[in-house]
Amino acid sequence: MARIRYSFPKALLEVHARIVQAGYQCYVVGGAVRSIVLKKDPTDWDLATDATPEELIPLFRTVIPTGIKHGTVTILYKGQKFETTTFRIEGPYSDARHPDHVHYTKELLADLKRRDFTINAMAIDPMEKLLIDPYGGREDVKKRLIRALGDPKERFQEDALRILRAVRFSAQLGFTIEEQTKTAMKALAHTLNGVSFERIRDEMEKIMASDGPSIGFKLMSETGILPILFPELAACIGVEQKGAHVFDVFTHSILCCDAVPKENPAVRWAALLHDIGKPVVKTVTPEGETVFHRHEQTSAQLAGNMLRRLRFPQSFEKRVTHLILHHMFHYEDSWTDAAVRRFVRKVGKENLEDLFTLREADGWATAGHRPDSKPLTRLRERIASVLAQSAPLSLKELAVNGNDLSEAGIPKGPVMGAVLQFLLESVLEDPSMNEKQTLLTLAKNFYQARLKTE
Ligand code: ATP
Ligand code: MG
Repeated sequence: MARIRYSFPKALLEVHARIVQAGYQCYVVGGAVRSIVLKKDPTDWDLATDATPEELIPLFRTVIPTGIKHGTVTILYKGQKFETTTFRIEGPYSDARHPDHVHYTKELLADLKRRDFTINAMAIDPMEKLLIDPYGGREDVKKRLIRALGDPKERFQEDALRILRAVRFSAQLGFTIEEQTKTAMKALAHTLNGVSFERIRDEMEKIMASDGPSIGFKLMSETGILPILFPELAACIGVEQKGAHVFDVFTHSILCCDAVPKENPAVRWAALLHDIGKPVVKTVTPEGETVFHRHEQTSAQLAGNMLRRLRFPQSFEKRVTHLILHHMFHYEDSWTDAAVRRFVRKVGKENLEDLFTLREADGWATAGHRPDSKPLTRLRERIASVLAQSAPLSLKELAVNGNDLSEAGIPKGPVMGAVLQFLLESVLEDPSMNEKQTLLTLAKNFYQARLKTE
């Protein structure tokens, strides 16, 4: 046991004191301990205790049963969350409800022994400022090593998700994986097949929010995890590209992902997956040139499949696939105002910044250095200027609505939809047409000439 120096937040000390005063043990565990040992401030707090969820509930005003099956509750206290788990130990708990301190420690040790990696098997008593580190976690933190606790193969056989968790910690912390641990990961990568997609998604979200998702994906490739979980990405390895590209599609994709700020997960996923259709559509022209015709469509489709497989919400999937579908725009100063308006309409005002973030990252990951920012700056200026003209860009900004058209004799239903679409396209081309009488005349002509006979 070693003393540590750390000034714990008041809320944490109060939660701890309340549990201890009620006669239970309570320790800080998990990521917070790692952070403190790394001399960083924890972002969230995991606690371990011998109190059961039922015993914790009366101690605090708000206790959410987040994982009651596994003995986990979330204590809400002074606006902070404390994820609190009852000691998990093999065999029965001791008979005495409040045994002596030595016994307490035995329970804690048993709990730590079941944890996945040495760096995750430390605990802190925040009152005494004591670090309990029975498996050399601190040494491994110093060596920047992720090492399975005990026999790596056995631990991965108990729970295959740990294989992906090793990748996650490596991406988050920039640590290396200890050799035997890595060997076991390779040997058992295929067992990730049996893990639920929800659990995989949770780890993937953490990899995607880390400083270096590319570290994680390289490791997944090296250990054989990639073809098991993401065959579409594995297919991108070694697919060479021409032009300004200096990387293969896989390396380009993971670098592109790194280049997007980590606070923006939808754009990071779009960056990772924007080119995954390339291996599928790749063709070589008679002149010997490699082309990826309309790859953005295949990429969006494959990305959608992947995100659905991972059980992401539909709204998230839509945002990502929309960005992928539109990532191939090529702005030139010759674009007319109408072209700029059509672009804004197609992409959606609310998605423009995301699409530009994706484009910038794409540029970085193409040549390996900062892309020329001029075209994007110009496009931004052009967009600002057409938006300032407050020209209508959506159906609801048209000077007529469905009722007006209905009164003019156009039947409701798909025909009406087609007429409105036509009117919007006309107005995008020439905003001065957005005037009720003009649009009604236009609508009637269009309906008579093009739709009525169908
Ligand atoms: P983070 O800072 O991202 O929350 P963490 O280490 O706290 O990282 P969690 O997933 O919150 O990770 O898990 C908390 C602790 O629970 C881990 O540090 C580890 O000790 C233990 N743990 C979690 N999942 C497993 C698992 N599948 N097998 C063994 N131990 C686990
Ligand atoms: Mg945690």
